[in-house]
Amino acid sequence: MRLFPDLEYPIKQHWLPAPSKRRSRQPAHKIRFLVAHDTGNPGSTAAGNVKYYENSCQQISASAHLFVDDKQIIECIPALTAPPEKAWHVIYNCTEDSRLYKCKANDAAIGVEYCYGANINADEAYRRYVWVLAYACSKFHLDPAHDIIGHHKLDPARKRDPQSGLAVSGRSYAQLLRDVADAYARYSGKVAAKPVAAPIIPWTDAPPAGIITVRARLNLRYGSPSRLAPGRIVPAGLQVTYIGRVLGDDIDGNNRWYALPNDEYCWSGGIVENS
Ligand SMILES: [Zn+2]
Repeated sequence: MRLFPDLEYPIKQHWLPAPSKRRSRQPAHKIRFLVAHDTGNPGSTAAGNVKYYENSCQQISASAHLFVDDKQIIECIPALTAPPEKAWHVIYNCTEDSRLYKCKANDAAIGVEYCYGANINADEAYRRYVWVLAYACSKFHLDPAHDIIGHHKLDPARKRDPQSGLAVSGRSYAQLLRDVADAYARYSGKVAAKPVAAPIIPWTDAPPAGIITVRARLNLRYGSPSRLAPGRIVPAGLQVTYIGRVLGDDIDGNNRWYALPNDEYCWSGGIVENS
């Protein structure tokens, strides 16, 4: 089975000039784990951080591979779209990485930075952050339960990220790890489909199951037919099999939703039913 079929968020390449202090171009060792960071700079965006990196790449050596905000995922050091290179995201003289993973984060880990703050939609940024961590686990055959670690765990004397940034967005580090494991399981199809949680209420005489086509880019919701449920964006034109019709959140006067396998829901206003 192909992992993460056609539903992924785009990963935008904006690689830093190399060789430079921030991007040495040295190939990374075999990727052994992921380090979750936040920018430590509330309100700064993925594009803004990468721009800053770019402008200072000959002066400062700190770097991370990816920045994630509510609009995009930017890769500034090759990690997911090309063979990974080293980035300088955890100080070399900490010892937790060696103890836990038998290697150094800068050599064998991907660093992913979470952007947060007043002007950033926390739900959207968090969704992308969870997704890209799950995707990286799949890409490098990592176990999301053990192979993701917060910077604050590696360098507790100096660092509080990503705990601090996640807290601003109303999430905890423990929640992040659970959500990544959950997303990984769902997207990779490695867990059995759960029964549909919401009651199935037929709202037309049409067949209770069938195929629908996404009319415009929209969110499939996980766990309940609600705009507040976590979601993943799917593109227009995608064909989806549904297994029931349920009543859920009212959006623009329409409370009819389709129940999909794997406990996902799709608002009927965003789709066309195939004949
Ligand atoms: Zn950090």
